[in-house]
Amino acid sequence: MSLVSLAAPIAGWLTSVREVPDPVFSEDMMGVGFAIDPTEGTLVAPIAGQVVLVAPTNHSVTLRSDAGAELLIHIGLETVALRGRGFEAHVRDGDRVAVGDPLISFDLDLVGLEAKSLATPIVLTNSGEFRLKLESLDRLVARGETIGSIQSIAAGKASPVDGGEVHHAEAEVGFVHGLHARPAARIAECAKRHSSEITIAVGAKSAKARSPVAIMALNARNGDRVQLTATGEQGPRALEALVQLISAGEEPERPVASAAPTRALAENEIAGICALPGAAVGTAVHWRRDVRETAEEGGGVEEERAALDEALAIVRARLEANSAQMSGPAAAIARAHVGLLEDEELNQAARREIDQGRSAGRAWQVATAAAAEELRSADNPLLRERVADLEDIAAQVASVLAGESPPGQVELAPGTILLADELLPSELMSLPRDRLSGLATSGGGATSHMALIAASFGIPTLVAMGPELSRVPEGSRVLLDATAGVLVIEPDEKEIARVAATAAQLGAEAGECVTRDGERVRLLANLGGLADVEPALAAGAEGCGLLRTEFLFLDRAEAPSEEEQQATYQAIADALGGRPLTIRTLDIGGDKPVPYIRFPQEQNPALGARGIRTALFRPELIDAQLRAIGGVRGEAIKVMIPMVSSVAELRSVREQLGALGTKLTLGVMVETPAAALIADRLAAEADFLSIGSNDLAQYALAMDRTNPLLAGSIDALHPAVLRLIAMTAEAGQRSGKPISLCGNLASEPLGALVLVGLGIRELSGVPAALSAVRSAIRQVTAADCRRLAERALTAESAADVRALASELLNSSAEGEGE
Ligand code: PEP
Ligand code: MG
Repeated sequence: MSLVSLAAPIAGWLTSVREVPDPVFSEDMMGVGFAIDPTEGTLVAPIAGQVVLVAPTNHSVTLRSDAGAELLIHIGLETVALRGRGFEAHVRDGDRVAVGDPLISFDLDLVGLEAKSLATPIVLTNSGEFRLKLESLDRLVARGETIGSIQSIAAGKASPVDGGEVHHAEAEVGFVHGLHARPAARIAECAKRHSSEITIAVGAKSAKARSPVAIMALNARNGDRVQLTATGEQGPRALEALVQLISAGEEPERPVASAAPTRALAENEIAGICALPGAAVGTAVHWRRDVRETAEEGGGVEEERAALDEALAIVRARLEANSAQMSGPAAAIARAHVGLLEDEELNQAARREIDQGRSAGRAWQVATAAAAEELRSADNPLLRERVADLEDIAAQVASVLAGESPPGQVELAPGTILLADELLPSELMSLPRDRLSGLATSGGGATSHMALIAASFGIPTLVAMGPELSRVPEGSRVLLDATAGVLVIEPDEKEIARVAATAAQLGAEAGECVTRDGERVRLLANLGGLADVEPALAAGAEGCGLLRTEFLFLDRAEAPSEEEQQATYQAIADALGGRPLTIRTLDIGGDKPVPYIRFPQEQNPALGARGIRTALFRPELIDAQLRAIGGVRGEAIKVMIPMVSSVAELRSVREQLGALGTKLTLGVMVETPAAALIADRLAAEADFLSIGSNDLAQYALAMDRTNPLLAGSIDALHPAVLRLIAMTAEAGQRSGKPISLCGNLASEPLGALVLVGLGIRELSGVPAALSAVRSAIRQVTAADCRRLAERALTAESAADVRALASELLNSSAEGEGE
């Protein structure tokens, strides 16, 4: 029995392999092991021995000790997709290494940004013959530090494999990146389930199918044909399973909203991928984009540079106004487009083209087309989808340079089902939502920005329908059944009746939202203007829990008059037909600037004069607004103040209302950690509290909500944010004051379950999300939600909370089905 000591191959946090978010490693498919979350980019040999295999993309390496123990070190997860970018190997197959010899260097920042995770599993791939022992886990380790040992288990165990007749088969490798670590692990796993001796060969090289390392060493690429042999009785079955596995390739990396239809298609049907479920019958209209002529040559470098700068500034101003005016994905995407406009490389490339004598329009076109081409050739489908964003800003800048007026609302007949090759996000935003019943595109994906905006607008959408979409006759009647993944040309009455029956059923479902044990939860809608009222009511909203009044103030040269404000608020109150309307006072500043207010110079606008603080330096604005709100007729009109961080702010607005002689119900938004921490004091004086989870998460987690780098991390289900919400809910309950939540967390079914568990009985969310939230709440009991909330408050991460909430939802759904 030999004993080899094991050194840490890299500095970082040593943890259990169970923590690695990839079942190939966490479920020991490759063998037993551990993981290190690296804090540096240098990997060294943890044992002495021979290099068995350096992955062709340099992201993993396997070593074999002299006693035969094989250690695979895989830097990060899903790093094969980087195709070697950021990795440099210092050893080759067959080299001998001593402990501490450099193996691979990698760019920690690049891999950290682009890979699924930096967690680096280190596994003993022949753990049947060797045992791995670690001294302790969950601590920082230094590179080269001794962390454990590898010991051989007594040899001589009988092989589990049967002999006998040999069977043959062939398969074509369907895995996009060939037989790298993950496919190799799955093949070995599959092989181990059979008692046959199985080999896989590519050309002259062959490997035992039970050894993931040997499979990787075959270096089989996508499309290669591999020969399989298997012995004994189980041979044919083993081969059948392996052929299927090898040729099918990977499952999609990210789930798409829905797959193609589950039934055979008729002649008049075209299949697509569902981006937002739902169904609609309407008139097919093909979207045609005007082709713009752009002059090739410019009128001089100076002139063209100035023209480009001006056009960029105009598009930027429009996008900023759009992002401030909208909410949800549309706002975020407009901000992302601003980022693209400012992209230094893009700008420099365009300027180089101008220096070559090109016109500003042509130069911008060439530069964006080159960047789009690079994205198109990327392996990552998500990157490919960003091509549309580049095309979008290219079109917007070209339109300004061509002297066209700003995109207004496109004319569409009611009940239009729009068919397009690709629809740019800005084009979709210029369409009248109330006239658009459905959307189908031949290209695009379910995660394209266009699809996200369509989903936030609540428009049933099918994408990736292919060129067949062009055969739909203009003006024909079509049924777009996004839920079933199919578009039907000239559907028969039976089909239309089926869709109508489903819609009626959904309508009937909108009604009271009650948990299975009878607790009532009120669902209201967040509105950005009068146009949002109708979809909100259609979605079953019981009123408006947040009217973002900014929409009236942005994108104009001067502030709206008191009369204009009052008329607008009145129209919204009337459209709501007496249902509650909570009007939030102006929340500008920070990421929502307006041209006619000169804000003080601020280093950190998000921590500056935004929300109620604006009243400190422009008191006349809030005065006029309070008077306008006070003048609205209706029973259930409330006013709510944003960004409160002290009781004094509430008192000053209360005094202002008193001075105006108005007795409005006055609430406070709890969206700063300060407000949550003094929620008891605020609840004592306010008439109600409403939690703004978007800002509360931003300020509690110290993560800018507009920073795309942090978009994946800022999550209001983080236990720290939940604790602040819990404190606020408790303060509300103790004081007997109503407490609601109007941030995006209320628009998420999983978030809603946690909130119900924390005792919140009024949620205000985006209209398009209400039916999903309602259906989730109806599936669970409030008692279950309370247990969920209790566990969520002590969970470690937002991801854990999400897992707990989906577990509850899934088990409740199964329970209902029984
Ligand atoms: C919030 O912060 O949660 C909120 C509802 O306000 P807004 O998103 O408008 O800042
Ligand atoms: Mg807010």
